[in-house]
Amino acid sequence: MDNMLENLNPEQLAAVTLPSQSALILAGAGSGKTRVLTTRIAWLLKTGQVSTSGIMAVTFTNKAAKEMMSRLSTLFPANTRGLWIGTFHGLCNRLLRLHYREAALPQAFNILDTQDQLSTIKRLLKTNNIDDEKFPPRNLMYFINGAKERGFRASVIEAQDDYERKMVELYGLYEEQCQREGVVDFGELLLRSCELLEKNPVLREHYQERFRHILVDEFQDTNNLQYKWLKLMAGNNTAIFAVGDDDQSIYAFRGANVGNMLSFQHDFNVQNLIRLEQNYRSHGNILEAANTLIAHNTHRLGKNLHTDAGEGEPIRVCEAPSDLNEVQWILDEVNHLIGDGMSRSEIAVLYRSNAQSRVIEHGLFSAGIPYRVYGGLRFFERAEIKHAIAYLQLIDNPDNNAAFLRVVNFPARGIGARTVEQLQEMSRIHDVSLYGAIPYVSGKAGTALASFVRIIQTIRAEVKEMNLPSLIQTTLEKSGLLLHYQSEKEGADRIENLEQLVSAATLFLSEEGFSLEAPALLTEKMTDGLNAGNPLLAVDSVIGADIPLPMIMSPLAAFLTHASLEAGENQADEGQDALQLMTVHSAKGLEFDAVFITGLEEGLFPHENSAREEDGLEEERRLMYVAITRAKKRLYLSYAQTRMLHGQMRYNLSSRFFSELPDRNLKWLTPRKQSMYSGIPQRKREPVAQFDKSFAVEKQTPASFGRNSEWRIGETVFHKKFGEGVIVSLEGQGTAVRANINFGRQGMKLLDLSIAKLEHV
Ligand code: ATP
Ligand code: MG
Repeated sequence: MDNMLENLNPEQLAAVTLPSQSALILAGAGSGKTRVLTTRIAWLLKTGQVSTSGIMAVTFTNKAAKEMMSRLSTLFPANTRGLWIGTFHGLCNRLLRLHYREAALPQAFNILDTQDQLSTIKRLLKTNNIDDEKFPPRNLMYFINGAKERGFRASVIEAQDDYERKMVELYGLYEEQCQREGVVDFGELLLRSCELLEKNPVLREHYQERFRHILVDEFQDTNNLQYKWLKLMAGNNTAIFAVGDDDQSIYAFRGANVGNMLSFQHDFNVQNLIRLEQNYRSHGNILEAANTLIAHNTHRLGKNLHTDAGEGEPIRVCEAPSDLNEVQWILDEVNHLIGDGMSRSEIAVLYRSNAQSRVIEHGLFSAGIPYRVYGGLRFFERAEIKHAIAYLQLIDNPDNNAAFLRVVNFPARGIGARTVEQLQEMSRIHDVSLYGAIPYVSGKAGTALASFVRIIQTIRAEVKEMNLPSLIQTTLEKSGLLLHYQSEKEGADRIENLEQLVSAATLFLSEEGFSLEAPALLTEKMTDGLNAGNPLLAVDSVIGADIPLPMIMSPLAAFLTHASLEAGENQADEGQDALQLMTVHSAKGLEFDAVFITGLEEGLFPHENSAREEDGLEEERRLMYVAITRAKKRLYLSYAQTRMLHGQMRYNLSSRFFSELPDRNLKWLTPRKQSMYSGIPQRKREPVAQFDKSFAVEKQTPASFGRNSEWRIGETVFHKKFGEGVIVSLEGQGTAVRANINFGRQGMKLLDLSIAKLEHV
């Protein structure tokens, strides 16, 4: 035990060993919050203050949960499988699987990921003949998710106008459709769990009695519904241990509420507020930059961070003429780092938007540097994997209409849109799922559909006794997916991915403690406790014996859950030493020896959607703070004067964040060619060697843009009122020249150059 406490500083030690009371650990990045939280669990267990079943820990990602598990098993060698450690979604899923009856869900409910949710909504609009231009599916999705995050069912929302009334009505229809099809979206996992606990005092009290310690990491990003869920799970004798950093709150757009940190202190009568001020992660230059940047925010609870590490290398800044040059620079620097012995997985390239990754990926690919993208088009989101998963979902739950529609005619088997419409009609009339409506369709259409039913039934019959990998293999074959891709020209990659699905399942089973031999579908034994009709029977068995996942879910259901919930976090090819690519959002909580923050351009980072409002800008700044503080030893910042994004050439000013970083921590690698967004004083900079030759590439000028002898596209100019800007396009000749100029925060202006007095910069 002494061991585990040995390396903590006094404040950390105080936090780890607090008595069983609620506590808030408020501390900046890299101060050891996550480490403190993990150590506290180990300490509570080791000192016998609580058994594994009395602990619940909430992490922000599944990856973090896994890491916590493995850290725990080194700190305290116990059977950690029964521990309730996971994300809010993961834990809610667990609760709903245990109490599906009380939650009014089918036992084999499937989870909709965002993509599935969107297509479900599109289908809803179509069946109800709603104009999707008036009611764009995405808007409806945001509306529904927002309502759920606030804990509102359609039935309780009072619409303010006709438009909203329609949205609410559609939300109601969506709820019915999901219920009919036995599917739940992410928001529903939480909302349903809250309702389950609210309506069921026996269950609620049981859990409140059970969990003596609830520990929450990244508390600043909990939304109101998650907070409510925590309150429902915590009883009078439960100590909540929340750790967070208000400066890292970056999910306001998804309803996260930093205010929860204040409510928490009040609601749980928190007496213990501990601050950790020593940063163990980053070298001085990096930390100082982070501190200086975040000091520009006004809404802060206030914290300071210092480090004992030396100041380290300066932060290297690159101003590249184009995104291609930016990538070239990253490659050069990465090669240096690798040459110095850094492993690729310790290097992260971060960007603000997923769309930026393509050009970086392309560069890395061409240079033969292995990389892994987090987020982006993920393994489980690839079309062929989605198809395979849909078959598996149907085998698990034939009423899943979304899955049904995805594959009923894939591979093509002559089931056209007309047939599907007929089927939908029958499903409405007889109030059954699409699969259940098949017997009502006759004629030629009926025959085609019957062949589909045969496929599903054959698979179901054949796989009864099979383990999960064989079940998947059989499904891939019998569904015709493999054959389909074998005959496709570009199918080789897809087949490889499908094969990866089988290995992903094998890996998953061993990680989750499923026996490799266990049949993949639900067995009767498994459901004994759950089906007895008494909810507490299931709970009792769980409480007593730390029943792990395998006892409450079939391997297939567990794997499908994993595919929906964990999809976003990783790609399948683990294990290889690869560069890490991800958005800043998904880098939260992680750390790397070297970090590249790319695309530091006005409009991109800070993002144009957020930069208009002060709150939005502060959130962007927190995001930048998160990005900077991921780096341990080396930090690189870059921006490109021109960038192809969403098929358009953008001419960019550099991010205002540059002006908020202390000059002395930065090392500019290029002579200044272009200026900051307007209003930033000129920066003195040492002349540094000219750019690498690859930077001498001619600036690509789209054909539609004019040229003019005095002015040049891409050139930085100065205007008395608007400050500095970049010429984006020119039109006209001689004295009648007009220019579109991007003045950054001041926006885009079309100016008549014979009137506007512009200066070259
Ligand atoms: P973030 O806000 O980014 O989530 P955090 O506060 O959770 O950061 P950790 O990830 O727990 O910080 O710790 C940052 C790094 O510092 C880790 O590598 C951790 O192992 C190390 N660390 C934490 N405390 C100590 C300590 N007392 N001695 C040495 N290293 C420490
Ligand atoms: Mg952390």
